[in-house]
Amino acid sequence: MTRPLYEILGKRLEELRATDNLRTLPEARFGYGEVTLPSGETMINLSSNDYLAIASDRKLEAEFIASLADYDEPLMSAASSRLLTGESTAYRMLEETLSGLYGGRAAIVFSSGYHLNSGVLPAICDRDTLILSDKLVHASIIDGIRLSEATHKRFRHNDCDHLEKLLAEYAGAFGSVVIVTESVFSMDGDRADLVRLAELRRRYPNVLLYIDEAHGVGVYGHGGLGVVEELGLLGDIDMLVGTMGKAFGSAGAYLICDDTVKQYLVNRARPFIFTTGLPPVTLLWSRFVAERLGGMTDRRERLAAVSARLRDGLAAIGCATPSQSHIVPVMAGSCARSVELAAKLRRSGFYLLPIRPPTVPEGMARIRISLTAAVTESQCDRLLEAIEDNL
Ligand code: PMP
Repeated sequence: MTRPLYEILGKRLEELRATDNLRTLPEARFGYGEVTLPSGETMINLSSNDYLAIASDRKLEAEFIASLADYDEPLMSAASSRLLTGESTAYRMLEETLSGLYGGRAAIVFSSGYHLNSGVLPAICDRDTLILSDKLVHASIIDGIRLSEATHKRFRHNDCDHLEKLLAEYAGAFGSVVIVTESVFSMDGDRADLVRLAELRRRYPNVLLYIDEAHGVGVYGHGGLGVVEELGLLGDIDMLVGTMGKAFGSAGAYLICDDTVKQYLVNRARPFIFTTGLPPVTLLWSRFVAERLGGMTDRRERLAAVSARLRDGLAAIGCATPSQSHIVPVMAGSCARSVELAAKLRRSGFYLLPIRPPTVPEGMARIRISLTAAVTESQCDRLLEAIEDNL
C-alpha cells in the first residue's frame, strides 16, 4: 500500500529528473584505471580520486596481499568499535606510522573523511568558539559545522582579505576561533593561500587552523604529506586532515593534531566512538601505502606534468578553469549542459561525469576531470581535442 511519504518522494525525484539533476548509480564496471560499460565499451577513468594510480596498481596490490601472511589477527572485520574490541594492532601500527611521518605529532584514524569532518568540529567547539570557513568547503565539513555549538561565519572563497576583516571584527569576542579550509579544493582544484593563513594564525593567539588536505596528501610535498609539507607549514597547522580513499588508494582518514586533541576526540567525537572500526586489512593497506609514499616522487612528478599540460592546453583553446592542480574542472553552467558535455566526452572514450548542485553552487555545473599519474601525454592531448570539438 502506498504511503503519502512515498508519493512526496516520488514527486521530488520527478522534479530532479525534469531539471537534469537526478542521480542514479552507475552500471559501469570500474576496473584498473578503465571503465567498461554494459555495452562492452571501454573508457579511461578520469573521474576517480586515485591520483597516484595506487588503487589501480596490480603489482602493489599483489605485493601487499603476499605480506598479509605475517599478520596474526582477524583481517576482515573489527567486529566492534575501537573503544570496545575493535582496536586492532593494525590501528596502532598505522597511527604510529602516520605520526612518525608527520614529525611525531599525534595521529588519529577515523573510518572516513566524512566521519572525521562531521565529528571533529562538533566535539572540540563550544559556544565560545567562532568557526570561520571558506565558502566552498566540502559537505562533510559543512555538516560538522552544523552539528557544532559554535558561532559560524563564512568568508568568500579563498579571500584572505575578507577573512582578515572577519578576524579583526570578531576574534576578540570569542575564546577560540577555528579557521577551516581545504588545501586543494575538491571541485575547483584551486589552492588555499596557506602561507597567509599561517601568518594570520601567528597574529591571533586564539586562532587555530583546521586544514583539509583530502586532495593534497600523496600528491604534494617531498614525502607526499601534502601542501602543508610542500610549504614547510606543518608547525602552523593545528589540525590537518588527510583522507585515505583518494591518493592513498585505500579508505579512512586521519587527523594530525595535538595529543590533547586526540585524547579528547577519543572521548567525545561521536562518529569516532559510535561506529565499527575499520577492517584491519584496510588499515594494513593504508600503512603499506603510507610507508611507500615518500618513494613515489616519480608518480607525483608525472601527475604534476600531465596536470600542467591539461591546464595549459585548456587555456590555449580558451577554456577557462580555476584549477591549479590535478583536479581540473571544465565549466558548463547549467545542469543540462554539463550532462550533455559529459555524455559527449564519454563517447570520445573518457569516463567523465557531470558535477551538479548541490555539490557545486547553482549555475556552476561542470565536468570534473580528475587526473592520475597513469594518464599519458597522448591521452591528455586526445582529451583536449575532444573538449575543443564539443565545447
Ligand atoms: N574532505 C574533502 C575535501 C573531500 O573532497 C572528501 C571526499 N570527497 C572528504 C573530505 C570525505 O572523505 P571520505 O571520502 O574519506 O569520506
